[in-house]
Amino acid sequence: MRADLHCHSNISDGLLPPAEVVRRAAANGVELLALTDHDDVSGLAEARAAAEDCGIAFLDGVEISISWGEDTSFHIVGLGIDPRHRALVDGLAAIRSGRDGRAVRIAEALREAGIPGALAGASRHAEKSTIIGRAHFARYLVEQGIAPDVKTVFDHYLAKGKPGYVPHHWATLEEALAWIHGSGGVAVIAHPARYRVSRDELRRFIAEFKERGGEAMEVACGAHSMDLVHELASLARHFGLMASSASDFHGPGESYADLGVVPPLPEGLVPVWRDLI
Ligand code: AMP
Ligand code: MN
Ligand code: MN
Ligand code: MN
Repeated sequence: MRADLHCHSNISDGLLPPAEVVRRAAANGVELLALTDHDDVSGLAEARAAAEDCGIAFLDGVEISISWGEDTSFHIVGLGIDPRHRALVDGLAAIRSGRDGRAVRIAEALREAGIPGALAGASRHAEKSTIIGRAHFARYLVEQGIAPDVKTVFDHYLAKGKPGYVPHHWATLEEALAWIHGSGGVAVIAHPARYRVSRDELRRFIAEFKERGGEAMEVACGAHSMDLVHELASLARHFGLMASSASDFHGPGESYADLGVVPPLPEGLVPVWRDLI
C-alpha cells in the first residue's frame, strides 16, 4: 500500500488547493492519502470528494501545534478524525486565533530587525488560508529579495533564536490527544527528527505521548535517509508505537519531498493505517 498520511493544502501553509493536492498524489501513485493541514479541517470535504473522483482511499487528518515544557513545540497529526467533532473544531479555532496575535508579534520582531511591512506581506501570502504561519512570512521575505528561498529565511530569521522568532503558547499535548481521540482518530507524532531537541528530550516526549495514549509516530518521512528511518523505526518498536508514512508535502519546489515520495516502512512495524482502512 503506497500511503502518504501527512501533507498540506493552501487551507494552511501549502501552495495548492485541496483538490489539486489529491490529484497530484493520485498521479504520483499514492493509494491512501490523508490531508493534514495545520490546525484546521476545512479542506477535508473538498479533498475527500477529489479522492473519490480519482479512486484513491482518503483519511481525514489534521496537524495540531502543541507546546511542551518551556518553549518547545511539537506537531501531532490526527488521522481518521471526525472534522465535525465539537471539541476538536473549537480547539482548532482557538489555536488559529492565537496565530493571529503571534503573527503581529512576528511582524514587530521583523520590523525591529529592519524588515517592515511583514504583516501585510505575509497576510497576502495567506489570503486563501484560514491560518497565518511562518511559511507565509518566509514567502514574503523571499519575494522581497531578503533571502533566496524559504529554507534560508528560516535559518536566518524565523527559527528559534533568530530575530523574527517569537515564543508562543500552542495547545497542550493533553488537549490535542483529547480532541483527536474524542473525534474517533488516532494520534501520530509528526516528523520526530525535525525538532530542535536533544535525543534525550525527544525520548522523554515520546514516552509521555505513549503514556497519555498516543498511538503512532512517523517513521518513513520524506527525504529522510534509510539510516534515519531505521533509527526512528527502533524508537517506534521500543515505545510500542505504530508507524506512519509522511511526505509533509507543502508545494512543488518548496518541500522536502513530493507527494508519495517516502522511504519504505521497515519490516516488523505495524502501519498506522492497519485499523483505519
Ligand atoms: P508555524 O506553524 O507557523 O510555526 O510554521 C511551521 C511551518 O514552517 C512548518 O510546517 C513548515 O511549513 C515551515 N518550516 C519550518 N521550518 C522550516 C524550514 N527549516 N524550512 C522550510 N520550512 C520550514
Ligand atoms: Mn507547514
Ligand atoms: Mn509539522
Ligand atoms: Mn506538516
